[in-house]
Amino acid sequence: MSNDRREANQPIVRLEFQPATPIPEYLTGEVQSKLAYVDEWIVGAEVAPDRITLQVALPAVARVVDMILDEPAALTNDRRAELEEKVQRVVLSMAKGAIKPKIQVLEDYLDRPVAYEKDPLPELIARGEVSQEANGIFALGPLVARLIGYFEQQFLKLADSFGAQPYRFPTLIPARYMERVNYFRAFPHSLTFVTHLREDLEVIDEFSQHAACDDHGLTTSPEAFARIQALLSPAVCYHLYFALADRVLQEGHATATAVGNCFRYEAINLASLERMWNFTMREVIFVGPKDFVLENRETARQRMREVFESLGLAYRVESATDPFFIGEFRKQAAFQSAFQLKYEIRARLPYKDSTLAVGSYNYHQDFFGRSLNIALPDGSPAHTGCVAFGLERMALAFLSQFGLEPDSWPKEVRRSLYGLPAA
Ligand code: AMP
Ligand code: ZN
Repeated sequence: MSNDRREANQPIVRLEFQPATPIPEYLTGEVQSKLAYVDEWIVGAEVAPDRITLQVALPAVARVVDMILDEPAALTNDRRAELEEKVQRVVLSMAKGAIKPKIQVLEDYLDRPVAYEKDPLPELIARGEVSQEANGIFALGPLVARLIGYFEQQFLKLADSFGAQPYRFPTLIPARYMERVNYFRAFPHSLTFVTHLREDLEVIDEFSQHAACDDHGLTTSPEAFARIQALLSPAVCYHLYFALADRVLQEGHATATAVGNCFRYEAINLASLERMWNFTMREVIFVGPKDFVLENRETARQRMREVFESLGLAYRVESATDPFFIGEFRKQAAFQSAFQLKYEIRARLPYKDSTLAVGSYNYHQDFFGRSLNIALPDGSPAHTGCVAFGLERMALAFLSQFGLEPDSWPKEVRRSLYGLPAA
């Protein structure tokens, strides 16, 4: 974890302890990312199989006391014990009895040669091509916007090849919808809630005259805000399933495509363009009988394999699981893995010698069909699946492998965007 919620000059204390049960190597990343949500004082965490290191920032209140007592900042024993207890709860819940998922690799082109080795983000920021508005919130300039436009053309071609119908979905999603598909239980940590001022003249007047921000955001009291009816959408395909809820698919199947803003609050895991709070996703969505969904998911993968090949992208496609929250993680991840419900397209990031998921091929079985009563003509629940691409990550992976100069990009990308003759 790199980013933090720390204020300038805030004292940081390191806390080290042994996990209550050894954490298998394959789970260390997953556990580490969850520690971001364990306590607001945690500003960094590293997880190894036999050691957990936390960076804990002492808040302002503790510092005032320290100043009065003229003592160095310290964690009280109670607070230390509380932090450790919460972390151990996460460890036990995720690691105890966990079964190693079998990673199935469907495509491996990670060793394709790449022309570039550096992290493109500092240079993009220096050139004004990317600006960070806040943690996880970025504005993208013409270079990245055009590149995303290029990928969008490829994704739209994929959608067209299935005769997918275009949809436009809202950025907000009703809380009731999310409840119906069990989202609160599976991914509570990453939700983003929407509210507005209560319809009350005094509240609105008070706000208009006194609203102010400090380092942590608006200082307005929570009582000024209305009950939450909507969230910011975490994915695109849910909107299609809700549009089809309580209906019979007369034609027996449906294929759709849409692009949309998606939101996943990732706490201190928010880092560069790799992990954003607000990002965009293009999806191609299949609804119908089991075979229809599975065959189309597979065909989509084969078609994208050609697209990535012509780009020369270094990547791999492998089975994966969604980042379920602590209590749900072990069971749900094991289920997803056993039934091969998710494959990720992981592009190589040469600058950190690792990979990043730029897209996924998903199969939800008849989960949405059953939860939302989407029926096939024979009355059975529809199966669903989607192919989802993260547009900013796609651009980031491309720039990481090919650099910022269009001259060194694959010629078809140059030709499409700038009309340059092939070198
Ligand atoms: P998923 O539905 O989780 O498979 O997400 C589909 C794609 O969206 C991923 O493969 C990523 O490319 C992208 N994505 C998911 N979460 C984020 C995020 N926090 N920041 C940027 N892109 C994301
Ligand atoms: Zn989807």
